[in-house]
Amino acid sequence: MFEALEKRYYGNYGGIFVAETLIPALSELEHALLHILPTQEFQAEYNYYLQNYVGRPTPIYHAKRFSEYVGVNVFLKREDLNHTGAHKILNALGQTLLAKKLGKTRIIAETGAGQHGVATATCCALLGLECVVYMGADDVERQKVNVERMRMLGAQVVPVKSGTRTLKDAINEALRDWITNVKNTHYVIGTVYGPYPFPQLVRNFVSTIGREAKRQFLAQYGKLPDTVVACVGGGSNAMGIFSAFLDEPVELIGVEAGGLGIESGKHAARFQTGKPGIFQGAKSYVLQDENGNILDTYSVAPGLDYASVGPEHAQLHENGRVFYTYVTDDVAIKAYQTFTRFEGIIPALESSHAIGYVLQNAHKLKGKDILINLSGRGDKDLEGVKRYLSTRGEQTL
Ligand SMILES: *Cc1c(COP(=O)(O)O)cnc(C)c1O
Repeated sequence: MFEALEKRYYGNYGGIFVAETLIPALSELEHALLHILPTQEFQAEYNYYLQNYVGRPTPIYHAKRFSEYVGVNVFLKREDLNHTGAHKILNALGQTLLAKKLGKTRIIAETGAGQHGVATATCCALLGLECVVYMGADDVERQKVNVERMRMLGAQVVPVKSGTRTLKDAINEALRDWITNVKNTHYVIGTVYGPYPFPQLVRNFVSTIGREAKRQFLAQYGKLPDTVVACVGGGSNAMGIFSAFLDEPVELIGVEAGGLGIESGKHAARFQTGKPGIFQGAKSYVLQDENGNILDTYSVAPGLDYASVGPEHAQLHENGRVFYTYVTDDVAIKAYQTFTRFEGIIPALESSHAIGYVLQNAHKLKGKDILINLSGRGDKDLEGVKRYLSTRGEQTL
């Protein structure tokens, strides 16, 4: 039923681990990836919206004052300037446009902190599609503002009360819905994860980031950056920017959420203590106990808080092309505050992990040109940062 089954793995990772009832939908999606997405008509429409609705290309900006402070040359790919405030709309827009071409009238999505839900609800309003967003019941409580944004945009937000009432349970529920309503419904997954062809499809949409960045950096500075740094949740913003540099002599660094520290067990650093396993449709690195039970994860950055990671990252970890490391909540919060004060740009807590890596390792990076993917804006995190600081008795910002 699939045309290019050989593409379903990245090395040992990826694949299709789903109920049989989903196979026709995945095969239809593969057809869209191979035969609709590359057409001039689709590309022209997608690029029209990227330019005039999302506001692309996003600039590359030399963060001069922060660079002087850390003693390293830091440049930013400004994904915070996208409409809705993060890179997520690149994927949401691509998938909803494609769904429309496939004749689907109903869109479903999962969301953790609400960022992917807002991006998807936005695109559904734009394209006139029905939208249902599954969200863990605890996340609905914690992320009230995004829930209201989604409802204002016309989406139905469904609180998921099973399991740990967080992201993974929302994904399970979305998959269940998809199996039942696959005829008229498309499931917009939020990152480079899930069964084939989702990781390949999402990578295709986010790779715009890397293509632009490479062209812009060359044009502005006459060379490529020495190092590219991105935070890694599911892995889409990182894959987006890394994809253009994989075959270049550029060091690539992926930063996971170290939470309260690796020893504490409260983190989401899959490449530190995770092991290969199968989870929610794909094979990748998974945080699990000896019996294969999925472990609870934790990060102050909601977008990095997931037990697994895109399969291509698992391959890039094993073949050593990308170096995966982590920074703790403390370092990310420090980066959030410092960066805001030096640049007048409030970075998302997720992106603050990439900035935190540079802050923490400045001595090792001296003399290098570092390009950080600033995946999103951090206004959404003000409450979280305030709460974090007040529990430590520290002054608010
Ligand atoms: C969701 C999110 C992330 C993490 O997701 P990836 O798929 O790893 O990119 C990172 N940054 C921001 C701003 C996000 O909203």
